[in-house]
Amino acid sequence: MQTIETYDFSGKRALIRVDFNVPLNEKFEITDDTRMRAALPTIKKVIEKGGSPVIMSHLGRPKEGPEDKFSLRHLVDHLSELLDGATVKIAPDCIGAEAQKMAGEVKPGEVLILENLRFHKEETKGDEAFAEQIAKNGDCWINDAFGTAHRAHASTAVIAKFFPNDKMFGYVIGSEIKSLDKVLHSPSRPLTAIMGGAKVSSKITIIENLLDKVDNLIIGGGMTYTFVKARGGKVGNSICEDDYLDMAKNIEKLAKEKGVQIILSSDVLAADDFSNDANTKVVPSDEIPDGWQGLDAGPESIKDMMKVIEESGTILWNGPVGVFEFETFAKGSRAIGDAIVAATKKGAFSLIGGGDSVACINQFGLADDVSYISTAGGALLEYLEGKELPGIAAVRGE
Ligand code: AMP
Repeated sequence: MQTIETYDFSGKRALIRVDFNVPLNEKFEITDDTRMRAALPTIKKVIEKGGSPVIMSHLGRPKEGPEDKFSLRHLVDHLSELLDGATVKIAPDCIGAEAQKMAGEVKPGEVLILENLRFHKEETKGDEAFAEQIAKNGDCWINDAFGTAHRAHASTAVIAKFFPNDKMFGYVIGSEIKSLDKVLHSPSRPLTAIMGGAKVSSKITIIENLLDKVDNLIIGGGMTYTFVKARGGKVGNSICEDDYLDMAKNIEKLAKEKGVQIILSSDVLAADDFSNDANTKVVPSDEIPDGWQGLDAGPESIKDMMKVIEESGTILWNGPVGVFEFETFAKGSRAIGDAIVAATKKGAFSLIGGGDSVACINQFGLADDVSYISTAGGALLEYLEGKELPGIAAVRGE
C-alpha cells in the first residue's frame, strides 16, 4: 500500500479528500477552524514533495444544488493564511472542464479547492460516473476525511477504483487509525473503557464489541440506571430505558464469562430536579427515592473509578459520567478526566472520543494532557463497534 511518505508526488496533482465542514457564522466567518488545521500536515507534505494539492470537501447540507452559503469560497482566504500566504484558488465546480483546467494549472506551492462536492446529489449517493468525473482532477487520491469515512460516498470511497495504485491515507485518518488500533488491537494492559452518556441504546453495540477487548468497563452517566434497575435496584426518577433491561443483564452475564470487570456506581449524587440549582443528596445507586434522579456519580464511586483508571495501561473514554453541563453534576466527569491525565503521566495511552467527552476534556482544560483526542463522531462510533468503514476499506482494498 502507498503512503504519503513513500509516494512520489513530484509533478502530480494530488486529489485530497479533506473534512472542511467547518461552522460559519451569518457573515460566513469560520467560527472553529480545527478541521482545517488538522488537514494542514497532509497538504503541506504534498507541496513539500513537489505535488499540487487539489482539495475537495463537503460543507453543510445543501439540498438542491449550489447555494452560496455552502460555498467553499468562504474558506479560501483562511486556508491561504494557514498556509503562510500561499496562493489558494477555487474552481467553480468539483467536476467539468473548468475544474480540470484549473487542476492542471496549479503551480508549485499553490493549492486548488474544488467547489462543494455536495452541490451534486451524486456525491452522497456514491455515484460511480460522478466519482470518475471528480477523479479526472487528480493523478492520485488521498483520503484524509475520517469524519466521513463511515460513508460510501463518491469522494470518500467509490473514487478509489480510479486510482488502483495511487491511493493512500492522509495524516488525519492515519493517526486516527493508529490510535484506535492501539486501543482495540494492541493495548498495554489493563485496558479500561469508560462508557458514559445518556443512553444505553446508543452505545450497546460498542459495549458488546468492547467486551471482547477490555479488562475493565466503567459504566457511567445515564446508562447507570438501566444497569442498576436490571440488577433489581430502585432508581427513582433517573433516566432509565426499560426496553434495555434484558440487554443490560446479558452484558453483565457476558462480562462475567469473559472475565471483564464491570464498575457500576455504588452511590450517586441525586437531585430533585434536572437543574443546576436542584437540591442534592448522595444516596446508594440502588435506593434512589421517588422524585429524585441520579445526575452524577457519588464520592465512593468516583474513588473506585479513579483507582481503576489510574492503574490502567490503556484508557478509552466515551461519554460523560454525569450531567457535566451543570457545574453541580460535573464532579464525576472532572475526576475521570483528572484520573486519565494522571494515568497518562505515568505512561498509559489514553484516547478520548465522542463529542461530549471531548467537550468535557476541553471544558476542564485537560486536552493537552491526554494521548489522543478523536474529533470524529459517527465514524469513531462505528469503528468502536467493530465495523469496517468504507472510506478505510477503499484505500486498503486491492
Ligand atoms: P451521549 O451523547 O450519549 O454521550 O450523552 C451525553 C449526555 O448525557 C450529556 O449531555 C450528559 O448531560 C448526559 N448525561 C450524563 N449523565 C446523565 C444522567 N445521569 N442523567 C441524564 N443525562 C445524563
